[in-house]
Amino acid sequence: MEFTLPMALRFYNTLTQSVAEFTPLQDNEVRMYTCGPTVYNYAHIGNLRTFTFEDVLRRWLGARGYKLKHVMNITDVEDKIIRNAAAQGKSIYEYTAIYYQAFLEDMATLRLQTPEHIVKATDCIDDMAAAIEELRKKGFTYESDGSVYYRIAKFPEYGKLSHSDFSGNVAGARVDVDEYEKADARDFVLWKAKREGEVSWKEPIGEGRPGWHIECSVMAMKYLGETLDIHAGGVDLIFPHHENEIAQSEAITGKPFARFWLHAEHLSIDWQKMSKSLGNIYTLRDIVGMGYAPEALRYLLASVPYRSKLNFTFENLDAAKASIERLRNFEWRLRNQKFAEGLSEAIADRTKAAIAAFEESLDDDLNTAEALAAVFEYVRDINTAMDAGDMQTGNVEGALSVLGRFDGVFDVLRPTERTSGLSDAEIDAKVAERNQAKKAKQFQRSDEIREELAAAGVILEDTREGVRWKRK
Ligand code: AMP
Ligand code: ZN
Repeated sequence: MEFTLPMALRFYNTLTQSVAEFTPLQDNEVRMYTCGPTVYNYAHIGNLRTFTFEDVLRRWLGARGYKLKHVMNITDVEDKIIRNAAAQGKSIYEYTAIYYQAFLEDMATLRLQTPEHIVKATDCIDDMAAAIEELRKKGFTYESDGSVYYRIAKFPEYGKLSHSDFSGNVAGARVDVDEYEKADARDFVLWKAKREGEVSWKEPIGEGRPGWHIECSVMAMKYLGETLDIHAGGVDLIFPHHENEIAQSEAITGKPFARFWLHAEHLSIDWQKMSKSLGNIYTLRDIVGMGYAPEALRYLLASVPYRSKLNFTFENLDAAKASIERLRNFEWRLRNQKFAEGLSEAIADRTKAAIAAFEESLDDDLNTAEALAAVFEYVRDINTAMDAGDMQTGNVEGALSVLGRFDGVFDVLRPTERTSGLSDAEIDAKVAERNQAKKAKQFQRSDEIREELAAAGVILEDTREGVRWKRK
């Protein structure tokens, strides 16, 4: 067999517009910042696509032996939050607490690993005011009507992330809103002067509240230092949000803010970006409410490489469900079928090749589609080997380790426990009771149990290896 050295882990970097080998700057630790949710509503599955990509990124860095120091912020003060909270007669704290909690629940349901630090913007207001003061001292700001703006003409590299030339922009033209298009690239607001009835903080720079962009610069550097290894988010954040983060952070430190910028493409529906403003959204709760297991959504979101668009359809979701089922069946067979004693060298080689193909696909800028193809080709080959009686006891552990590596990233093999209906343990007990009844030739009782389980959505399958149950 020929051996080639595996290629190193590499990512596409939006900043350089090229794929480059990734290693952390310091020791073995990856310092990573991802823009978290704006907690003004439930996250939709488009948002969750980006967070799932970041989870796959986390897990793959971990699988490659790196320690993670990952910060995710919670934007709990910005224009939309203030507007919505006021409309409901609530403080921003009361208003955002509901959606923050919901987001944490969604993360757990979707098996997204918890970042080392989850930081709320409202817990770092003093740091933000201090950063703005620092920018003021360095001559990057000016004031107008009590608000403080960033002067983009002072930062000649402005535009380097979105690869746009903003040199012809009208000096002094300003933008006060947090979100705007490239055509509106203007001096952006760092600190918004207090407005009657709006939440505000008294700081040496004045009474007001921070703009959205300064929040992330400050929270990232507070926890991760001046130069991060990775900064990630959805593509819609490249401009203006991440461009502004670079302008702010690098003006303060004079150092590169982040070495690698990774951006996930959008999830769309009918080929239109899913967004709260268009109203074409599904939440995780909607999907689960329709009877889908959360892991089916997780599989679908993770299966499309993050730099490709993902057009959501229920056919895709059904296909994801079927793919998981296929892998669970494979695992079940490995654990329950009886094989001849011994070790097939051919199967052992096939197993090594599958692991290498899986790992190399993920090293290649997280190509999850190819990684899955490697797993499914392997499953097909080993199923064939099992049918032919070629599989031996010594090969089982290797086959399970392929699934283990897969599940370390995709994490879909364990079925989500239902909160309603029968628990796994209750089903196991019923199945055992039915086995007893059959043994005692009480066939009426055994049929009754089968029907009882069917009514609860559990299907029984009598196989050579015994009875197996599945939820519908
Ligand atoms: P937000 O809560 O609006 O601040 O967004 C949270 C994250 O979701 C950000 O990284 C966005 O870039 C990302 N995002 C928003 N809409 C979509 C979408 N349709 N598909 C994928 N990611 C999205
Ligand atoms: Zn951000």
